[in-house]
Amino acid sequence: MEQRTVVRCAEGHVFSTATFPMQNLLEGRLGPGRLIRCPQCGRLRSSVPADPAQLSGAQLARALRLEAVESLA
Ligand SMILES: [Zn+2]
Repeated sequence: MEQRTVVRCAEGHVFSTATFPMQNLLEGRLGPGRLIRCPQCGRLRSSVPADPAQLSGAQLARALRLEAVESLA
């Protein structure tokens, strides 16, 4: 099964990405996050990992359908 990370952009959109490095997960919660192209903004946004436990089932399902197509390391 594909490993994806649910993230939240600076505008509050929740989506998923396959490219978010796992080792940055804890750092990302506290730091400025990483630049990922948000599928809803259509722009590079500073995004941080979202806690799936704090999302509703609908939000989570939506996030998993919205996958970021590219990211900047
Ligand atoms: Zn966004």
